[in-house]
Amino acid sequence: MDSLLTDTFGRRHDYLRISLTERCNLRCQYCMPEEGVALSPRDHILTFEEIVRLARHFVAAGVTKIRLTGGEPLVRKNVEELVDAIGAIDGLETLAITTNGLLLPKKLDRLVAGGVNLVNISLDSLQTERFRRIARRDGLDIVRRAIDLALEAGVRTKVNCVVMKGVNDDELVDFVSLTQNLPIEVRFIEFMPFAGNMWNDAEFMPFDAMMERIRVTYPGLRRLEDGPNDTSKAFAVPGFAGRVGFITSMTQEFCSTCNRLRITADGNLKVCLFGNAEVSLRDAMRDGATDGELSELIGSAVNRKKAAHAGLYNLVTMDNRPMILIGG
Ligand code: SAM
Ligand code: SF4
Repeated sequence: MDSLLTDTFGRRHDYLRISLTERCNLRCQYCMPEEGVALSPRDHILTFEEIVRLARHFVAAGVTKIRLTGGEPLVRKNVEELVDAIGAIDGLETLAITTNGLLLPKKLDRLVAGGVNLVNISLDSLQTERFRRIARRDGLDIVRRAIDLALEAGVRTKVNCVVMKGVNDDELVDFVSLTQNLPIEVRFIEFMPFAGNMWNDAEFMPFDAMMERIRVTYPGLRRLEDGPNDTSKAFAVPGFAGRVGFITSMTQEFCSTCNRLRITADGNLKVCLFGNAEVSLRDAMRDGATDGELSELIGSAVNRKKAAHAGLYNLVTMDNRPMILIGG
């Protein structure tokens, strides 16, 4: 059944990202407009049972890693039970969650007990005022505590930071310094254009410029070996407990080794983050699709996956959902 998730370019897709909700308790400037986004009607969102059915189906087809995302996945009702059900699927090796961290102190223990073994926490500033400006809400202290708690619980922990020139690029070095004592991986993400996020060239900071800035303070920053499907380039300062990664989606695409598929909260399968082709698995399930029919639908969507996305400047003008509705 493995070939179902292998595309015409020989890419095997063993990593599925499932968006649990379109809702969020923050309003990050780079992710969505201040007024929020128009949400899908409640009955358009996948139910608990539909999510679990799809998770099982994809794991049976060869997926070994599932990431729960959103919106903010932890605002989804019954996320703990959902994690229990997905964590119990035979063959799943990694159950990850990408979260802004606000609800993590309350939910972490349950999530870890249910099988979450990788947590990515988004944090774009270590300064209270600036955090508030970027996220349009308060929360820095809670997010810092969430990171400490995740480490105490022994979960692999990454910190995602979207770097924007003139907004938070002066904190690059502070974020690298966090890895001196904390065994985390800080990942700097190039700012990507999506509908409604006011992406502009002036705020875009490419990987090279980030490196240049960091090397002034940390000239010894050393390149590490990456895994075969890593989207991030790994580095570390010798002697530091953690490491640093760069997600260079804009300047150096990693399409040729892409192993990811995405399911939006309203049940669409998206084979490329930057593509607007989508197929509704929700409608198929609600129309009574058998497992075989579901497989056919998934297999043909995977087969239509393109070799690479459209390139930096086409992305800026392309029609696509805002990030919050894709599931980051
Ligand atoms: N709410 C959760 C969170 O913030 O971690 C999960 C969803 S969020 C859409 C997933 C990731 O996408 C976050 O790390 C966020 O920083 C990143 N992201 C959102 N908009 C982005 C953009 N325009 N460019 C780059 N990364 C972005
Ligand atoms: Fe919410 Fe995450 Fe988007 Fe921020 S990046 S608005 S936390 S979904």
